[in-house]
Amino acid sequence: MFAAENLNTILGLSSIFAIILLAIVIAFKMDRIKQLQAAADKLKNSLGEMDEQAKLIVRTDMELNKTQEELDKKITGLYALQRLSREISTTMQEAEIFKRINNSRLDDLGFEKTCCFLYDGRKGVFTRRLNIGYTGDEMEAIGFFVNSSKDLFSGLINGQKSLSSIAANLDSGLKEKILQACYIDSFVISPILPKEGDKGFFFAGTANLESAITEGDEELITIMANQIGQSLDNARLFEKTWLAQQELEKKVEERTRELSRALEELKLISKRKTDFISSVSHELRTPLTSIKGYASILLTGKLGEIPAELKDRLGKINRHSDELVHMVNDLLDIARIEAGKVLMKREPLELKKIIEGIADLLAGQLKAKEIEFSSQIAENANLIFADHSQINRVFINLVGNALKFTAKQGKIKISAAKVDRWTQVDISDTGCGIPPEALESIFEEFYRVDNQINQEAKGTGLGLSLVKRIVEAHQGKIWVKSSLGAGSTFSFTIPQGAE
Ligand code: ADP
Repeated sequence: MFAAENLNTILGLSSIFAIILLAIVIAFKMDRIKQLQAAADKLKNSLGEMDEQAKLIVRTDMELNKTQEELDKKITGLYALQRLSREISTTMQEAEIFKRINNSRLDDLGFEKTCCFLYDGRKGVFTRRLNIGYTGDEMEAIGFFVNSSKDLFSGLINGQKSLSSIAANLDSGLKEKILQACYIDSFVISPILPKEGDKGFFFAGTANLESAITEGDEELITIMANQIGQSLDNARLFEKTWLAQQELEKKVEERTRELSRALEELKLISKRKTDFISSVSHELRTPLTSIKGYASILLTGKLGEIPAELKDRLGKINRHSDELVHMVNDLLDIARIEAGKVLMKREPLELKKIIEGIADLLAGQLKAKEIEFSSQIAENANLIFADHSQINRVFINLVGNALKFTAKQGKIKISAAKVDRWTQVDISDTGCGIPPEALESIFEEFYRVDNQINQEAKGTGLGLSLVKRIVEAHQGKIWVKSSLGAGSTFSFTIPQGAE
């Protein structure tokens, strides 16, 4: 009995122990299950996040593709624009500009229909200048639409702004009207605004819904229209300049013809004058020589005794004949040099020696007027190449004039210096000077200043004319500077070489 009780007790205790153990095991498992549950929840969350991220990546990829496409389109557009700019900026003809736009591949931009109209102010109509992608009939209908909607297009030009089918402020009725009239689904119209001449607009459209107009396209078309405007300006300016130049060339040609005709006439007149002077001088010289000859013979008394009064008159005839012969000779020389009949020799001459000779020749007159005569010849200016007797005449005339027009106790100075391959001679005096208005005419034949000295002293007005011709026949130049009452300086150049 006791054993049975003990067994029951042991069994009872074992059960309790087993239950406790089971409870412990269950509690432990429950905890693990909870942990597993938490881990499962975490995993679920992560999966959800990953799903979100995957969706984001797909979305971003799609957007990137779209941006890439837009970028590609923009690059293509910019290339097309660059190509077009290059082509139309190298022509200077208005018609050629549109021809070149026609040839450049504008459909690269995604607009298969393009046209251009300029407003002809004189006729009061929009005229078509470009058509890409439209049939003849379609174009005619569009032309009609444009001209019957003049207000719309003139307004666009005056407003200087583009109009596109994606513009938010575009009236839906108007948009529909343009879409229908121009056979497209989207469009951009940009004004062409050259500074001068006919203005107009550039139209680009597409009927392809997939490549509908974007903001980028609108920008591109606006730039293109500006470029066309500038090219039109250049072409018109060029045409204007070219026409003006043609006109000018024509005028210059006419003027040149007139001038050469006048020159020919002048040459003829001058030749006639030279021939006339030459023949008259010849004719005068012969009788003058015999008059002078007879007067001289009579004066010698070989033909019989002459009364004193007659002697005096014969002396006058003799002197006047001398003057006349001198004048006739000068005239003849001028005419001969002018006609190129006098050959100027080119012999080496020393300026200092020539001047010494002149000083000797005029010594008596210089002394009589107590004139201080000096010369200053630079060493490198001393040697000249000229015709000895002709150069002597130049000096005799110029120094002779200085002497004639300088009052007593005045000064005459000759100086010479080298200028390039020339010797420049300056003959200065402290004489009466020449009035400014006479300076231009001083080298003309028979010109004499109307002054006291000329009224008293003899002269022909031929000396300077002869001097000028001699200097010029040596390829030199002659000029004068003078100040009234203070003196004059006559300067001329003479070559230093044989050629
Ligand atoms: P002519 O001495 O015979 O009158 P020229 O042809 O030598 O003729 O000179 C023309 C004119 O130029 C002179 O009449 C004179 O009025 C003026 N002329 C020339 N040389 C001088 C000078 N050195 N000073 C002032 N006047 C001068």
